[in-house]
Amino acid sequence: MRSIPLIANIESDERDAWLTQLNTVLPDTEVRPSEQFNTDQAANADVAIVANPSPDELRRFTGLRWVQSVWAGVEKMVKMPELAEIPIVRMEDPELARTMGEAVLAWTLYLHRDMPEYARQQKEKIWQQRPYTPPDECEVGVLGSGKLGRAAIEALLTCGFRVSAWSRSEQQIDGVDHYAGLERLPALLARCDILVSLLPLTADTEHLMDIQRLALLKPQAAIINFARGAIFDEQALLRQLDQGALRHAVLDVFSTEPLPPDNPFWHHPAVTVLPHISAPTNVKTASLIVRDNLQAYQKDGTIPPAVNYRRGY
Ligand code: NAP
Repeated sequence: MRSIPLIANIESDERDAWLTQLNTVLPDTEVRPSEQFNTDQAANADVAIVANPSPDELRRFTGLRWVQSVWAGVEKMVKMPELAEIPIVRMEDPELARTMGEAVLAWTLYLHRDMPEYARQQKEKIWQQRPYTPPDECEVGVLGSGKLGRAAIEALLTCGFRVSAWSRSEQQIDGVDHYAGLERLPALLARCDILVSLLPLTADTEHLMDIQRLALLKPQAAIINFARGAIFDEQALLRQLDQGALRHAVLDVFSTEPLPPDNPFWHHPAVTVLPHISAPTNVKTASLIVRDNLQAYQKDGTIPPAVNYRRGY
């Protein structure tokens, strides 16, 4: 029976869940923890399933032709010299996209229906109705119109929001004003009541949302960052929130995770902190994606579309 290593530097419960599920959907293959592969077996493996792999462990697997990541974000892996630019296939699961679309809609509604403010009012026993704005008067801008961005856009449109989106390449998306390239970013920012970030973290997107760009948002705009913390200059974001230039930020991701106890985001009245949970991978559906990719490779050597190392995503 063919053996495939799972090179994973994750909690043991999570690793066991992956092993159980992958071995259930791949009955002709044995997926084993990479640590069980001896030197010869490691050198002979041509494909591995990876989850936050450690560089030391990767170094033992010298014959890999490609790796399948069980996660969507690959910003650490594209910087690993141990991979020597072999194809990284990241997790692209429609169920993951659906989950992210659901999260973006849920937290957009939270902001749109003033829930942070009503929670504050309740604490102080204030009975005060705030003006209602219909969703077609609320502009939501989505940074990144890839797999997750598209799902978010679809969910927002279904609910009646006005949606614009930004990506590297020109795109046409029904019902959406689309902007491409850095020079068009200010035009998108200037119209946003709510800005949603679903960009990958790359050399080009790190601190993309710095103080100058944050200042281009409409007064009292709100932020939802469900991508990676470092896409925002977190100090600049805090400053804009402190000064009341921004109304609220819903943050699921941070440049340091878990968020350290002394981080000011924890206590900020205009910040909602989430513990990186907007779109958790569904082990069952994701294992089926891994199975399909491995079976296609076994059948005729097809390596699924891989991350572009130069672009970083
Ligand atoms: P994707 O399909 O690769 O889409 C990325 C999008 O970002 C594309 O539209 C791309 O433009 C755009 N983009 C990348 N670099 C850009 C740049 N420099 N300027 C303008 N646009 C740029 O990725 P995805 O599957 O949607 O995932 C996005 C990110 O979500 C992941 O990288 C990961 O970090 C994060 N994530 C978070 C969670 C969570 O639970 N918080 C879960 C899963 C994933 P083009 O379309 O022109 O290429």
